[in-house]
Amino acid sequence: MALLDRAIVSALPAVPKPIVRLISQRYIAGERIEDACRVVKEINAAGKMATIDVLGEEVTTPEEARHIAYAYDDVFRAIDEQGLDSNVSVKLTGMGLKLAREIAKENLERTVRLAAQRGNFVRIDMEDSSCTDDTLAIYRELREEGLENVGIVLQAYLRRTLDDIASLADLTPNVRLCKGIYVEPLKVAYHDFDQIRANFFRALGALLEGGSYVGIATHDEWLIHEATRLVGRYHRVREQYEFQMLLGVRERRGDELVRDGHRLRIYVPYGEQWYAYSLRRLQENPKIAGYIASDTVGRLLPRRNGARA
Ligand SMILES: Cc1cc2nc3c(=O)[nH]c(=O)nc-3n(C[C@H](O)[C@H](O)[C@H](O)COP(=O)(O)OP(=O)(O)OC[C@H]3O[C@@H](n4cnc5c(N)ncnc54)[C@H](O)[C@@H]3O)c2cc1C
Repeated sequence: MALLDRAIVSALPAVPKPIVRLISQRYIAGERIEDACRVVKEINAAGKMATIDVLGEEVTTPEEARHIAYAYDDVFRAIDEQGLDSNVSVKLTGMGLKLAREIAKENLERTVRLAAQRGNFVRIDMEDSSCTDDTLAIYRELREEGLENVGIVLQAYLRRTLDDIASLADLTPNVRLCKGIYVEPLKVAYHDFDQIRANFFRALGALLEGGSYVGIATHDEWLIHEATRLVGRYHRVREQYEFQMLLGVRERRGDELVRDGHRLRIYVPYGEQWYAYSLRRLQENPKIAGYIASDTVGRLLPRRNGARA
């Protein structure tokens, strides 16, 4: 399978852009903020919440980083004007982390303060392991400055994650827990599917035990099932956790979660950089290419059973 995934990825640059657009449009709202708002409205109408991510390619100047940070001003304004149920997700590299830590911190802090004025919330996505220390340190600094409307992401594939949960415990952090999307070396990350699942389960237990609000970000059926049992065991009411899924992935399963009374938030990326973003994400993790390819083929073929969602 890995070979097939890699073959799909290496063929991608040769695929005409309109076809890549056709495939990626299920996963990306579009190029403009209006596209994101239209998609969020549909999501809200289905009883789900959203988080909007402004796509940006790797930034090379402080101006580009500021441009991305300022794009969130428009997002907050649109959310308010249209009464959307959505927060935002940001990437610290987009805000300049690789240029200078202080640039990223300044851009993020401005965004979080703006969100606070509007009663909104900012989730800091977690990127590859070269960003983990800085991301967690900047998060701590903002919390220690008294900003409460900000949360982080922890990745279950990282060996350090349980230690991070312990060292963040004094902040009772608002955490999105996911498996992790980047290709990491074995010394920092588990590669084995079952070990990642087991660490996800342990991390979720530790976060619930510590009183954290958790965004359970997974499409993995086993984890969804175990997570619903765990939140029950910790007597969490509906407002004290949420499930999260990516736009266009397992939509019917998402509908079921909502019908069962859980809250669900959908990750909605948009931006002019959709093409570069799609290629980069696929090149970072060829497994996604396999998902998309099998999902697309699955949609074209008649369904043999009701399991796919
Ligand atoms: C809301 C949200 C936010 C995220 N934020 C981050 C982040 O900040 N940092 C980070 O490193 N990772 C992030 N991720 C990605 C995450 O780490 C995983 O890589 C991704 O969710 C796949 O893992 P899974 O738990 O769904 O399990 P998997 O076992 O990988 O997937 C379970 C099933 O879901 C389906 N599926 C999963 N992903 C896709 C896809 N892209 N396209 C089509 N089908 C798919 C497949 O059918 C697959 O068999 C986020 C994920 C979500 C849902």
